[in-house]
Amino acid sequence: MSVPCSWHTLSAAAAAAELNVDPARGLSQRAAAARLAEHGPNLLPAARRRGPARLLAAQFSDVMILVLIAAAVVAALVGEPVDAAAIAVIIILNAVIGFVQDYRAGRALAALQDLAAPRARVRRGGRVLEVDARALVPGDVVLLEAGDIVPADLRLVEAAGLTVNEAALTGESIPVVKAPGARAVATAPLGERRNMAFKGTTVTRGRAAGLVVATGPHTELGRIAALLETAEQGRTPLQRRLARFGRRLALAVLAVCALIFIAGLLRGEAPLLMFLTAVSLAVAAIPEALPAVVTITLALGARRMVGENALVRRLPAVETLGSVTVICTDKTGTLTENAMRLEKVCSAAGEHDGLPSGDTLPGRALGTALALSNDVQRGAAGWVGDPTEIALVEAAAAAGYDKAALSAVRPRIAERPFDAARQCMTTVHGGESPVAYTKGAPEAVLGRCRAVLTAAGPAPLETAAWLARAEALAARGFRVLAVACRELGSADEPPEQDLLLLALVALMDPPRAEAAAAVAECRRAGITPVMITGDHPGTARAVARRVGIAGEKATVLLGEELATLSGPALRERVLDIAVYARVAPAQKLRIVEALQERGQVVAMTGDGVNDAPALKQADIGVAMGRGGTEVAREAADLVLLDDNFATIVAAVKEGRRLYDNIRKFIKYTMTSNAGEIWVLFLAPFLGLPLPLLPIHILWINLLTDGLPGLALAAEPAEGDVMARPPRPLKESVFAHGMWQHILWCGLLIGGVSLAAQAWALAGHDAHWQTMVFTTLVFAQLAQVFAVRGERQSLFAQGVFSNGWLLGAAGLTAALQLAVIYLPGVQGVFKTGALTVGELAFCLALPLLVLVAVEVEKALLRRGWLYR
Ligand code: ADP
Ligand code: MG
Repeated sequence: MSVPCSWHTLSAAAAAAELNVDPARGLSQRAAAARLAEHGPNLLPAARRRGPARLLAAQFSDVMILVLIAAAVVAALVGEPVDAAAIAVIIILNAVIGFVQDYRAGRALAALQDLAAPRARVRRGGRVLEVDARALVPGDVVLLEAGDIVPADLRLVEAAGLTVNEAALTGESIPVVKAPGARAVATAPLGERRNMAFKGTTVTRGRAAGLVVATGPHTELGRIAALLETAEQGRTPLQRRLARFGRRLALAVLAVCALIFIAGLLRGEAPLLMFLTAVSLAVAAIPEALPAVVTITLALGARRMVGENALVRRLPAVETLGSVTVICTDKTGTLTENAMRLEKVCSAAGEHDGLPSGDTLPGRALGTALALSNDVQRGAAGWVGDPTEIALVEAAAAAGYDKAALSAVRPRIAERPFDAARQCMTTVHGGESPVAYTKGAPEAVLGRCRAVLTAAGPAPLETAAWLARAEALAARGFRVLAVACRELGSADEPPEQDLLLLALVALMDPPRAEAAAAVAECRRAGITPVMITGDHPGTARAVARRVGIAGEKATVLLGEELATLSGPALRERVLDIAVYARVAPAQKLRIVEALQERGQVVAMTGDGVNDAPALKQADIGVAMGRGGTEVAREAADLVLLDDNFATIVAAVKEGRRLYDNIRKFIKYTMTSNAGEIWVLFLAPFLGLPLPLLPIHILWINLLTDGLPGLALAAEPAEGDVMARPPRPLKESVFAHGMWQHILWCGLLIGGVSLAAQAWALAGHDAHWQTMVFTTLVFAQLAQVFAVRGERQSLFAQGVFSNGWLLGAAGLTAALQLAVIYLPGVQGVFKTGALTVGELAFCLALPLLVLVAVEVEKALLRRGWLYR
């Protein structure tokens, strides 16, 4: 197969021949697999992922670690090889833990990216399949519809009303009309190749089929993408703040370590020992891993959220979720089941349940219209397409009007596709005499009708009375469509004028069972749910009432009125409106902006092409995984795999839990580190000898920072996560008494450890160093259990409710006991076997820490502290 790059100069047939494919059937699966092996995946040259080797090297790149390694080497040279080797082993263990965590986080992120990968519909072996867009090969026949992102460079072979926005490629933001027949000269610029559709551009309207002529790096987009450096996933606001804070903290810690070093020298300690001690303390107390822990927690959390049908596309969204104050949601499919059924038909003859039986002229016309005027297709398991249309086709079929049979007699010859802004669609069908069928929102269709069809033929139409009927049906919660037709003298008469009304059809789409509970949970969590729908205000109000979004008398703002409101006027009213109806997608952007100007953090759902700007503007753009378009998904931060409103609420809860757990982790490590610093800093002032050796400090860092700290990420949500107001976006992570806690509790941990030392020395106990060491470890374990709850007491939470933490704490305790009691290890750690009494003392003192933190939390619950 030769590869000419001027596909736009070839006829469609010539292109198909060149690609060796029959456009009507597509490639066979076998041929596609062979071509995939030959051409490679349809992927742009992206930034390389960091490989394991670089990840491992990164663990050692920290400056203080390097200084520590250097100091250990010096120690080994001057004659303490065992000490040096032990330090080396601990550093390596630490690096391995860091590496495993980073690697897992990377894997979790990669898995998320795979889940979010775009899909494409192709014709293969005569059937339509949905495939991963990365598996497309030259010669594949790709089907496009409004809202798709073109997955590869295509030579169009069929198109109906296709317009494509090529801004991504040409910068031109006005959509271009495309047609397979439009040949261009070889030198035509991209924007004038009207018979082509290029990868990365978006379909704004219409439908089409095209042959893949280039994939991945060989596409026009691939050629420019090669020049652009693909950005790595951005850091979250919290990560950025922590990184900045971490640098300042590191300087402070280094200053304290320098003081400790100098104080040691003044007291006559060996300089090398003091230097190792000070550097070890710096390594232990500088929380260089904080940003990484944030990534790990968020990435693993996002991974878990997939299990709850919430797919996070951008990691910072997980953090923002906890701050959402308003959720703007669609109605159809999100709050309702999107399983519609035709219930009522209101024709000139009155109201029926379902389609009228019996062979009347209006009945025949309506049945035919419903069967023909839609875009649903028969799939393997029933109909696929828009649920509104499926309901209509099914009702028609039940009354004996079969889509396939009627289409054979009256094939579609022209169409104006459904457009949420126009709120109606028209299809024109050939046969003996062409007929146009129009269906859509009653307000959109009735105005275009001149007469209504009765059993005796067309009769004059009283528009106001019909609008009132539509209104009454909508108020009962029905989704109402008007269906009309027009016999055309010739196929080129303008449709959508002088129509003949056939009937109003009323569909019922029951609210989802879980919607009302989710709305109630939102309210408890200080989040305002808002409904924005293209549907009739009556239907919108009825559903909003049923799920609890609005009360009986709630104002419903219509798109029409919204269009007349100025920016300031909308801003004035926006907080009082819970339901918007007959809104065009483009208006959602205004609503988001107005809410944001009023200080709200907005989550906004959307599924169509025109929703993309609002999704981008929203703090959390939410796209539909089932019903939504590729364009909406691309613009979104969160994709609902089940299109369900309750999933947004579940994601908010998860976001709050993860943020809480990050806070708990920070609180725990910083307090522990503060404890270590206090011990070494205060000892000389209290006249005590150097309490800990370098290896003790590193061991504590390895044990307590590593396992128990990370187990906090698995902490279940506290009882009140969804009973408190959203966290302000700009709130410091140290708010609500965290830095105070770090100060006093760190001092307490240091204090009990020094108390153990003083007590032992007073009794001339030879194990005094082992006792400080052990008390410090257990004090930190006591602390980790205490900070599991921000406000809740440990007992209310259940001591055993975090299995990971129990395991981690058990392992830590066991390892510490091993270091004290195993003869071989004792030599390395310079420890001695504690007597039962000594050990009991080391275990009992830390309980003070637990009690103190529980008292702090009790005061917090009563509102006496840190308001
Ligand atoms: P939503 O999804 O918020 O309910 P849409 O924008 O999808 O609103 O639809 C708005 C209105 O357009 C509906 O109330 C209905 O009257 C009409 N409509 C929806 N789908 C179709 C369709 N496939 N054909 C014709 N009209 C439709
Ligand atoms: Mg819709």
